[in-house]
Formats: sequence, C-alpha cells, structure tokens
Amino acid sequence: MQHLFIVIDGIGYDQIERFQPSGLIERGKRTGLVPLTTLLTYSSGIYPSIWSGQYPDQHLVWTEFFRRPAPRRAVTGPLGLLPGKYLLRKAAYVALAVLKRLGMEQPEYAAIPPQVQSCFDRVQSQYWNLPPVPMPAVPLISQKIERSGQTWEYVFCEALDQRAERRIHDTAARVDTLLVCFPDMDKAGHELGPMSAAFGEAFHAFDARLARLIAELEQRWPDTVTFLCSDHGMTTVTRQFDAWSYLEQRGFRLGHEYLAFINSTIISLWFDNGHRDEISHALNQSGYGRVLSPDEHASYHLDFPDRRYGDRFFVADEGVELIPNFISLANQANYGMHGYDPACSSTRAFFIGGKQVDVQPSDVVDLYDVLTEAAVMADCLV
Ligand SMILES: [Zn+2]
Repeated sequence: MQHLFIVIDGIGYDQIERFQPSGLIERGKRTGLVPLTTLLTYSSGIYPSIWSGQYPDQHLVWTEFFRRPAPRRAVTGPLGLLPGKYLLRKAAYVALAVLKRLGMEQPEYAAIPPQVQSCFDRVQSQYWNLPPVPMPAVPLISQKIERSGQTWEYVFCEALDQRAERRIHDTAARVDTLLVCFPDMDKAGHELGPMSAAFGEAFHAFDARLARLIAELEQRWPDTVTFLCSDHGMTTVTRQFDAWSYLEQRGFRLGHEYLAFINSTIISLWFDNGHRDEISHALNQSGYGRVLSPDEHASYHLDFPDRRYGDRFFVADEGVELIPNFISLANQANYGMHGYDPACSSTRAFFIGGKQVDVQPSDVVDLYDVLTEAAVMADCLV
C-alpha cells in the first residue's frame, strides 16, 4: 500500500475543534488539518462529487429521490384521499408491503405520502460501492488511479471493529491505494447530537481505535501517505418545522397547488399550476428558512438542466429539521442533522494530510484533486 484515504462520514471540523480527539489532532499537527466547504445536498450527492471531481449539476446526482418525467401508475393513489400525516403513511406502508408481496407494486417509496408517490423515482445509493450510483459518463477517481498503473480497492466498514480492521489489513496487502469509509460517526451524530457529551465519548473511542489501526498500517507499510477527511459536518437540531401543514393552512395543498419532495432540511418544489411567488413568499415568511432565488442556483451547484430536482429549493435554517419529511416516518426531530447552507460553520467537513500534496482543497469536490495528485505522485515513483 502506498496511499491510504479514509473518509469518516459526518464528522465536522467544528466537532474536531470542540472535542480535540488526540489521534486526529496529533496527525493534523504533523500533516495539516483544514476545514472543507461541503455541498448543499446529502451523502447521496457528495460521494459522487468526491469520486468524480464534478459538482451535482455536472454529474446530475443530487438527492436520492427525484421527479419522474411523467407519473407512473400507483395502486396506492386512492389512499391519499384519507386525512392525516403519519397514520395515513403508516397505512400506506403496510399496503405497499402487501402489494409488493403480491407483485403489484414495485419499489418501496420510503415515507412519501401516497397521493404524490407516483410522481417520484429513486436512485438508491449503494454506499458500499465506489461510486454509490452508476456514473458511466464521468471520469471517476478509480479510473484515474488505474490509468496511472495503480491498483485500488474501496472498503466500506459499517463499524470500526475487529472484522473491519482485519478487512483493512488484508486489503492493504494487495493494493496501491486503499480507500476506506466509516459511516458510524454520522449515525452517532444524528442520534446523540454532534456537540453532546455522549457523542464526545463515542468520538474519542473511535479516534483512539482508528489511530491505533493507522499506526499499525504505517508500521507495515512505512512509505504510506495517509489522508483523512469527511463529506460534511453535523449541526445540532434546535427546532422542527412542519412545512407541509404550514402551506396547507395557507391554502396551498400538496399535490394540488404545488408539488414538493420534503427532505430533512431541503424541499424541492415544483409549480405546474402557478402559485410560485405566493408559495415562495409564504415559506420565506415562515421564519424557518428560505427559498433560494434562481440566480443563486449556480453558486449552490444546483443549476440542473431539467426539472427533476425542482423548480425552486427551500433550505431550512441551521438547526431546523423538517418534520414530517418524506425520508422517514419519524414525528420527532433527530438530535443532529446535516444538509444546511454550506455557509454555516457547523456544516464544514475536514481534511487532514494537506502538507503532503501541492493542491490545497477548499471544498469536498477538491478531494478528487488530492487523490489525483497522489496517484500521479505514485506514477512518478514507479
Ligand atoms: Zn447522515
């Protein structure tokens, strides 16, 4: 092994500052620790960006759910006539499961309300793959590494345990570049809160175990160049906002006056029947976030060539979680969330290892350049 590239999902620069985990801090002192600007999306759009060096409006992978060009036929449509927000969707869940068993309804559409289910489609991100969704048209980092005559493997570890350590050691023995991803700190941030004492405890334990693992690997392969990074930070949730009811109370009904896909922090909005300005105005008056103006789309890398991800985008204020949303049936917010405006400090990712390369990344997409430079470096050594 010559290069070790580790992604710790959901660890923000602010959390490293706050908890000072000795392994990351010590390595940061030696090889450089900097914050990275993340993207206005979730891991679904960020990993494709890291692995391709392109922004979401270039590679066209953003959120997992997007609008279909034309609605499909959905057997569950009539369920939308029933009132209510949670019970109804739970009923739809059961109905979907039954229909799926009978082979009458295809995919499981998460917590999307039945009255608009037929409008959406899903690209299921498979994070254990690089890339998590097929991206045939873009130049992937894996291809770059191969082109420079190097071998690589991507190891996705649900947890940092003995099994993971063994897998990483075994893989390191047969490749030039080893890419590793740990998703479990993201989960801890959601469940415990990114700045809580309980999270700090979990983070210190993870950091100590990771530092030990890296030390072992660098002892076996002393010339290894190691980088560590994350894809986004984690924000403490302080408030929740029911945008769906808020709009309904003002006479704007989902699936009638407007169509929306409500994520945890971002709402994709479509206006087929007008009402764009009134609905945008109402959301801007809510005190929970704002609708981006069209001339801002490019700077947020949301300048998509078609309407699949939305006509407009509502972004919740830092710390606001949208409840209910179409991702889960939870009626209570998480303790931590991500997917806010990348200008917010708590959203920042981190990067360790910059002193070892010339390129200085400023956002998560630039990590592609770090990997490219490392691959070329190895090429020169050969
Ligand atoms: Zn997450």
